[in-house]
Amino acid sequence: MIHAIIDGISVEVEEGTTILSAAETAGIKIPTLCYLKNLAPDGSCRMCVVEIEGNPKLQTACSTPIAEGNVILTNSEKVRSTRKFVLELLMTKHDAHCFSCAQNGACELQSLCMEYGVEESPLAETMEKQPIDDSNEFFTFDPNLCIMCRRCQRTCEQISGRGAITVQNRGYNSKIGVAFEELGHGFGNSDCESCGNCVEACPTGALSKKGAKQHPYRMTEVTRVRTTCPHCAVGCQYDLLVKNGRIVGTEAADGPTNHGMLCVKGRFASYNFVHSEDRLTDPLIKNRETGEFRKASWDEALDLIAEKFTAIRDEFGGDALAGFACSRSTNEDIYMLQKMVRTAFKTNNTDNCARV
Ligand code: SF4
Ligand code: SF4
Ligand code: SF4
Repeated sequence: MIHAIIDGISVEVEEGTTILSAAETAGIKIPTLCYLKNLAPDGSCRMCVVEIEGNPKLQTACSTPIAEGNVILTNSEKVRSTRKFVLELLMTKHDAHCFSCAQNGACELQSLCMEYGVEESPLAETMEKQPIDDSNEFFTFDPNLCIMCRRCQRTCEQISGRGAITVQNRGYNSKIGVAFEELGHGFGNSDCESCGNCVEACPTGALSKKGAKQHPYRMTEVTRVRTTCPHCAVGCQYDLLVKNGRIVGTEAADGPTNHGMLCVKGRFASYNFVHSEDRLTDPLIKNRETGEFRKASWDEALDLIAEKFTAIRDEFGGDALAGFACSRSTNEDIYMLQKMVRTAFKTNNTDNCARV
């Protein structure tokens, strides 16, 4: 075990623990921008710098392992002024327009600028606006809001396993993009499969969901309702974001099968049926002669179905029937279906499409 002192608090942690994690065990929060728990440490944004006694240079807490006997200051004058300078550098190429930005109120850059008193960068240059990439059906990329933390690129590569995002150019001209941009390709016609995990990883409004434009919401306005994605059998956990009784979006949760990730269906589509005008809300019975459907009560519809199934079973035997459960149903519903097939239909012809 390693013993150290952080901001006057003694800590004991396993060898190899980073200063950031060690501070967390002592209840000390060190600000970060490029860091995300499930990604390999990058140490590129420099927001998490800390002072280590006897070391003339500040070190990045997210990528520096704590050493025996370290005496660390996470909030000294030197540390705070360096962080402020880092933010001022980030703001040199940031087209801040918080009032109309989708991320307003939930933006990590905005919160840190507020905390460190950065209103605008004294180094700000008149930047030439870069075109917004609107080519993806589900999200927008605004390079003018990008701070090059590369959380999106590393998420796509290290977690989604897609590698659709690349860093183009080098140094001051570095920018986020996709392959073959020079041929006019954007996110919409790249290798991107629109899972949106990069959008959720983005600490600013650079990557934002399009749904948020159709039904605008601030993260401070929504209620989160934890549930299981109904789209397939994987059973990803997510929070439905609800504003004024309407589901406006989703946010991945740390479930046993998804660990904070979602696919395109779960993130952008799995809830749209709830408010769809095409949604069936009553059983419909078809008139065989006219072909027209009419509304029926549940009792009437269920009686009709039971009568027809019973007639088939009695005339042709149970094996003339089968029950195939939808993987979007709950385990309990699927159990009930096979039970009905075995006991009422009197056949073992039952299965489920949970093959994902
Ligand atoms: S990304 Fe953040 S700081 Fe930039 S305009 Fe949007 S809310 Fe403001
Ligand atoms: S949406 Fe998914 S696949 Fe597309 S760039 Fe983002 S993380 Fe990669
Ligand atoms: S798009 Fe967002 S996540 Fe990606 S580098 Fe820019 S600010 Fe970071």
